[in-house]
Amino acid sequence: MPDASSPPAAHHVYTVDDTPVAVTLHEPRPAADVPEALVQALWRDQRFDREALQTTDGTPVTIHDPGRINADSGPDFLDAHLQIGAMTWRGAVEIHTTSGDWFAHGHHEDARYNSVVLHVTLHADTWTGGLLREDQTVLPEFVLAPRLDRPLRRLLHQFLAEDDRELVCAPQWTRVPAVVRTAWIEQLANDRMAAKQRRLEARYQARPDLEQLLYERLFAGLGYAKNDDPMETLARRVPLATARAVEDPIDREALFFGVADLLPRPADLLESDRATADYAMDLRDRFRRLQASRAIGPMKRTQWTFFRLRPANFPPLRIAQGLAWLHRGALLHRDPVGTLMHAVQANDPVAALRKALHARPHAFWNTHLRLVKSTKEREPSLGRGRIDTLIVNAILPWLLVVADQRSQPELRAQAFDVLRALPAKTDRVVRVFKQLGTPPDAAYHAQGMHHLYRTYCRPGRCLSCTIGRHLLGE
Ligand code: SF4
Repeated sequence: MPDASSPPAAHHVYTVDDTPVAVTLHEPRPAADVPEALVQALWRDQRFDREALQTTDGTPVTIHDPGRINADSGPDFLDAHLQIGAMTWRGAVEIHTTSGDWFAHGHHEDARYNSVVLHVTLHADTWTGGLLREDQTVLPEFVLAPRLDRPLRRLLHQFLAEDDRELVCAPQWTRVPAVVRTAWIEQLANDRMAAKQRRLEARYQARPDLEQLLYERLFAGLGYAKNDDPMETLARRVPLATARAVEDPIDREALFFGVADLLPRPADLLESDRATADYAMDLRDRFRRLQASRAIGPMKRTQWTFFRLRPANFPPLRIAQGLAWLHRGALLHRDPVGTLMHAVQANDPVAALRKALHARPHAFWNTHLRLVKSTKEREPSLGRGRIDTLIVNAILPWLLVVADQRSQPELRAQAFDVLRALPAKTDRVVRVFKQLGTPPDAAYHAQGMHHLYRTYCRPGRCLSCTIGRHLLGE
């Protein structure tokens, strides 16, 4: 078996001054972030040498079935069928680009991941071979990179090119009546919202507290794709009741940044301007005092991603924006359930929800994106686009949970009315459908398009898709 800790290598012989020189060329780890979706696709399509597979501790592995992609929360693949050593397993497989992501995503503290029978990592790192589940059992692990069937950079290039490809049914798209396409996309929009609701309901069952659930979802939404897990972890470590009990907004910042392990160390501030360094050191002092009276285990700085983030998405600014919802009179300060139920019933519910989510962070954030450096003055509040995304991804699924928990079906209808009234955001998936002459009318249709693209088009499930079946029926 190739050395799990090394990237694949190629051997070349060059002639230097008539002397043959053997050179081993190692494929460098790509400078670019390898998307986890690529690693999932490599596992799904089994794009690697499957002969004599071994886990990192040398136990033989046979893959009978890689499992099916989990479109819901929890591990990446379900119902995998594997032989690991003498044991036959049917269970989940979790995929990451490095082993450390297991900890960074908090899976070692999440009982839902106790069903994972194999961890597949693209690259080995210092954590490889040492993963534990939440129940403290050892998790077998397999390193993919040394066994890939072609160089990673080519797989990455192919994956990124495919990502933007048009749908396979694009040439026949207009032969499917618009009414058929629309009905299918709307059905999928409903499915997507139902899946989001189910995820929240599972959390609600574990901890029946609507306010805390909303707070966690809003923080996760602020983390966007790369920091949603740590933002949610932060909201769990500092529960809403604890956050509210800290009345001074600067103390609250100190508590959150301290627990997040994002407070700069003195050495990080050597090149900071005076005002920035004073503010950061004041937060450190305040956190030391606050921590003494609260037993909150801090997170690890490594859980946060800054790499390849737009500055507006830097976690410190996003945390400050989340804390603005705790300011006096803001959404999470008091009775968010009442505020949002009132907003969704207003004459213009979209405007009322946007207003409910608007909050201005402390003035320090007018000139900061992080705690170590000042920037040009700018508006630190959440923009309209991000607020709309939070309404779709956090507020509306949460309102669906409230509607069911309180047996208020009209609230469900009102939530869907908001989804039909909100403008669709143009993103990569929406562009695919726009190019076919089918722009979404509203966020509702954009949700359906995302669900179609992600769960049918990308996995090649055309035979299960109404549009594909209609074309075949022709
Ligand atoms: S899944 Fe449906 S919409 Fe997607 S490419 Fe196939 S036929 Fe077209």
